[in-house]
Amino acid sequence: MTARIPIQADLGFVRALLGAGASDLKFCYQCSTCTAVCPITPAASPFPRKEMVQAQFGLKDQLVSSLDSWLCMHCNDCSTHCPRGARPGDVMNVLRALSIEHFAVPRILARAARSVPGVLLLLLIPAVIIGAVILGLHASNGYGFLEGEIAYSRMLPVPVVDAIFIPAAAFAGITLLVALTRFLRVVSREHPRTTQGEPLGRAVVGAAADIFSQRKFRECSTNRPRARAHVMAMYGFIGLFITTTLVAVFYYLHRFGLDVAVGPYPFFHPIKMLGNASGTLVLLGCLLVVVRRMTKEESGRATHFDWVFVWVLFLAVLTGFLAQVLRVSESHLPAYSTYYVHLVFVFFLVAYAGYTKMAHVVFRAAAMVFARWSGRAPAG
Ligand code: SF4
Ligand code: SF4
Repeated sequence: MTARIPIQADLGFVRALLGAGASDLKFCYQCSTCTAVCPITPAASPFPRKEMVQAQFGLKDQLVSSLDSWLCMHCNDCSTHCPRGARPGDVMNVLRALSIEHFAVPRILARAARSVPGVLLLLLIPAVIIGAVILGLHASNGYGFLEGEIAYSRMLPVPVVDAIFIPAAAFAGITLLVALTRFLRVVSREHPRTTQGEPLGRAVVGAAADIFSQRKFRECSTNRPRARAHVMAMYGFIGLFITTTLVAVFYYLHRFGLDVAVGPYPFFHPIKMLGNASGTLVLLGCLLVVVRRMTKEESGRATHFDWVFVWVLFLAVLTGFLAQVLRVSESHLPAYSTYYVHLVFVFFLVAYAGYTKMAHVVFRAAAMVFARWSGRAPAG
């Protein structure tokens, strides 16, 4: 006797998928070529054909909690070989965006990050907060920082910047942690640990090695140049994080009486050089991504979700460079205005990390560790 399996199709979710960038999903006729050519998929319960079937049926619960969509590197080998042009690699990319939205708290902020008016509203929040702080600090003294030496700390002292950005970072950390816990709780049910699972320590080290070498990305053929862009942006971002941390640490060491140099640093100071080299890497990485996405169909279609992240990151770094140039050219108003815009973009990247593509850093890393720990993916 044939068993009946009840399916709860969510047509609203199918519409959301189609609208978010998986518009060719319906062309799939389940030939499984995509799964056969995917260089990453594990032999047991492989992807992405499975996800294509689930997406066509609108099986939202399985899809948003899919571990496999996070193991996919969006290399698009599968999309290149798909005989129907259903673009499974791009479908997996959209699934990741919807997964971030599904687990986000509060979800309304993740929804806002997926629309142009929503992004503008999210940018307006730091624009108002930072603007109000500047007005509050200087309205009574006639904006004296607009004359004399240009130093951004004259407009916003470092402790004031920290008072804005530390709570923003804490908000991002807490919301990301909650979202990740919810995600891992679901995938633990789907993929209970097997005897092939690695010890946690080895899983973390193995996943970290994969991430920092981008080894998995290099196994792909269609989109290999994007691995270069990805590496540049990733290491540039890490360099910027280290630079920002060093600037803050040195500032407070100086405040506590230690004889260390504080900003603004001269051009050839090691901290300045690290910041500029890292910023250049991020800019080049973003530009490579943008140019490839706009000129090479096989590099994958970018969704609004992808574009927002790339452009905000690009503009944050670009305005950082511009603020440096304008400072030394002694253009007071343009310099301070550019620095203000720079802070607004940085706030967006930091505070909304749980709602934008920034969250993929955390989700993908956790999924890679989990896959090794649970025995879902081969260790090799
Ligand atoms: S997405 Fe394309 S390659 Fe994959 S099963 Fe569907 S038709 Fe075949
Ligand atoms: S995009 Fe690449 S990694 Fe992702 S499913 Fe397709 S072939 Fe596999």
